[in-house]
Amino acid sequence: MGPQPALFLDRDGVINVDHGYVCTPDRTEFVDGIFDLVRVANQRSHRVVVVTNQAGIARGYYSENEFRRYMEWMSGVFEEHQARLDAVYYCPHHPATGQTGYKRACTCRKPAPGMILAAQRDLALDLAASILVGDKPSDIAAGQAAGVGLCVQVGADGAMGHGITEDLRAVVDVLAVRQAGDHQSDLVGSDIIINTASTR
Ligand SMILES: [Mg+2]
Ligand SMILES: [Zn+2]
Repeated sequence: MGPQPALFLDRDGVINVDHGYVCTPDRTEFVDGIFDLVRVANQRSHRVVVVTNQAGIARGYYSENEFRRYMEWMSGVFEEHQARLDAVYYCPHHPATGQTGYKRACTCRKPAPGMILAAQRDLALDLAASILVGDKPSDIAAGQAAGVGLCVQVGADGAMGHGITEDLRAVVDVLAVRQAGDHQSDLVGSDIIINTASTR
C-alpha cells in the first residue's frame, strides 16, 4: 500500500459549532453536513485526521484526559452516522498563557505544521494529494506550510452555520470525483488514534 491521502479537519468551527472551548457533549452542536463529508472521505480511501489547537488544556479549562474522553465520545457519534474519524492530533499548549508544562512555544500549534507532519509520519500520508478544511487563516497556513495540496477555508465569507455547510458540500464534490482505492477494506473498523503531536 502506497501513501494515502488524508482529509485533515480542524475541529471547532468545522466539526462542531465553535461555542468556545467545547469539551462536553451537552455543549456540542455538530455542523450540518460534517457526517456526510467524513463518510464520503472514508469511501474515497482518505484517512480522516482531526488537527486541533486545544489551548483550553493549557488554560486549565479541561484536562488532557477529559479532552481524550470527549473525543472518544465524538468518534462514537461519527460511528453512529456510519462515518469514521481515523486519528486526532491536538496541541494542548499556549505560548503565553498556561499551566506548567503547557505554557510554551511549540511546533504543533497551528499555524505551525507540526500536527500535520506528525500525522504524515505516523500514517504514511500523501500530503500533496490531501485536503485540509479549516475555518481560520491559521488552519490554512498550517496546511500550506506542510504541503497539503488543497486547503479550504469554510465560512470565510463570514457566513456561519448554513454557509459552512455549503462549503462542506463543495469539498464533498471534490472527493466524489476521486477514485476509491483498492485498500479500503484495510481501514474499515480501525480504531481511532489520539495523539499529542509535540510529544512524538
Ligand atoms: Mg476552528
Ligand atoms: Zn503545541
